Amino acid sequence: MGCRKRAAKSELLRVTVGSETHGQPVVAPDPQGTAPGRGAHLHPTVECYDLAVRRKAFGRALRVSTGLSSAPVGEYLASPSNPRSTAPPP
Ligand SMILES: [Zn+2]
Repeated sequence: MGCRKRAAKSELLRVTVGSETHGQPVVAPDPQGTAPGRGAHLHPTVECYDLAVRRKAFGRALRVSTGLSSAPVGEYLASPSNPRSTAPPP
């Protein structure tokens, strides 16, 4: 849903709407694909995430119109534990 290239679902990262402690909706990564509720899929790369953010694709795909923070997905993708991360080493 970021760059709109076609890909098999198994190659994509599922994300869902979670909620933070202060009640703000957030986009949460769901690498197992098991979280309930509406989900969206994107390539597990920082590039695809950035495109999705710029296109406001998370809000559209997840049907959240305001105040949606996708930071947890960005942090997940940029973290060294994500083998497909394209972030430069620290
Ligand atoms: Zn993509």
